Amino acid sequence: MSLSYLTINQIKQGFKNKDFSCSELVKYYLTRSEVNQDLNAYISLNSVQSLKQAQEVDKRLKVGKKMKDLEGIPVSIKDVILTKGLKTTAASKILADYTAVYDATLVKRLKEAGVIILGKTNCDEFVMGSSNENSAFGKVLNPWNKSRVPGGSSGGSAVAVAADLCVFSVGTDTGGSIRQPAAFCGVVGLKPTYGRVSRYGLIAMTSSLDQAGPITRTAEEATQVLQVLAGKDIYDSTTTQSRVENYSQAIKKPVKGLKIGVPKEYFISGMDSEIEKKIQEAIKEMEKLGTKIKTITLPSTPFSLATYYIILTAEVSSNLARYDGIRYGWQSRVTHSLADVYQKSRAEGFGPEVKRRIMMGTYVLSEGYKEAYYRKALKVKQLIKNEYQKAFKEVDVLITPTTPTVAFKIGEKFTDPLTMYLSDIYTVAANIAGICGISLGCGFSKQKLPIGLQIMGAPFNEATILKLAYHYQQHTNFHQQHPKI
Ligand code: GLN
Repeated sequence: MSLSYLTINQIKQGFKNKDFSCSELVKYYLTRSEVNQDLNAYISLNSVQSLKQAQEVDKRLKVGKKMKDLEGIPVSIKDVILTKGLKTTAASKILADYTAVYDATLVKRLKEAGVIILGKTNCDEFVMGSSNENSAFGKVLNPWNKSRVPGGSSGGSAVAVAADLCVFSVGTDTGGSIRQPAAFCGVVGLKPTYGRVSRYGLIAMTSSLDQAGPITRTAEEATQVLQVLAGKDIYDSTTTQSRVENYSQAIKKPVKGLKIGVPKEYFISGMDSEIEKKIQEAIKEMEKLGTKIKTITLPSTPFSLATYYIILTAEVSSNLARYDGIRYGWQSRVTHSLADVYQKSRAEGFGPEVKRRIMMGTYVLSEGYKEAYYRKALKVKQLIKNEYQKAFKEVDVLITPTTPTVAFKIGEKFTDPLTMYLSDIYTVAANIAGICGISLGCGFSKQKLPIGLQIMGAPFNEATILKLAYHYQQHTNFHQQHPKI
């Protein structure tokens, strides 16, 4: 039996029927390390431990033990999420030798559910980027076309899922880092509502916007993973008490009558015509499912990106102050004073994009500019939030493209940060507004590059966006197409 591109349910069934053992499955993934070497999706592998764990699962299967929800499922974790005993580098030289001393809450939950962690995936340094070119561990290639970027910052995770180097991955999304690479690689990426999944043990970039979530091949699997990740955590006071529903049940309910809003500000002139066409086709498909489509307006949309980059850089400058060459990671070898330790360790340890953002953040927080930039951005954030709140009184979900273009060429935007920032134009608002969003494939360009559709939902309404995504995938087959590698 072929072990490639199995879903969580197919694996569970396979274990039950004794079609294959967990050790065979883990070996299958480990033998794919050649594909990994080519694409550079992982920063580190956890092969020995994974095989050992698989043998334990097999023993339990043999004696007919009741299996846990995700028992024996081989997964990967973005390398900004602390995983006890494993290197957690944030794809930065400054943390290149850092081994996590505790598990992030979400990792703890996944382990309790029985997953096998195959390794830690590559990403942009400290999750800053949209192309995965900002990694101290080298760029990641898009499996659909190796001259293209996989998106960022969770590029390694999206590639690992698209190229079947794991069953699913967990990434983080501050302004699109789960959804944009998912779109570029033709997989599903879910950014839950801020407060749905614990941030305890995530290496912070922008604490007020960061959120972790699943990258999977199907909406149904995103549902299964979210079920494990979601919920209150005493170690993260921003997680909410709000009830975690039974998502697997919720997504099977009909979508008939669901009101879908299409924000006109997301369909601007200059957008890629192939993307526009595929999104329109997807909207038609959803209409066929019995949903109601309505054009709506979100007038503050053009301000999202500027607001995002001001709030983000401000928080980056303070969050990254802790990497001082003393408490964590890299320390410069030639220093003559304490100031030298700080300056040289940071100068040597951080890459150019991280430095750029620290400097911008320091500027927007500085005396005399704080009011003009940072405080103003916070006010606009509130305006954007209000607009989305109002929109969700009119409609149940919003549909937009995930990205303005398909995966761009490696190097194409690398030297022009502003154009790079523009690739997040459709994703940042969900983080600013604190709502949830999912990206899923809705077709391919003429060059056979995946196109992503974004569905956004009201705070803590993950069930509805997952439901629509699930029903859409039941009627289409884009998620069953895989790159030839
Ligand atoms: N690409 C965006 C940025 O560079 C988003 C990053 C993210 O979500 N972590 O900020």
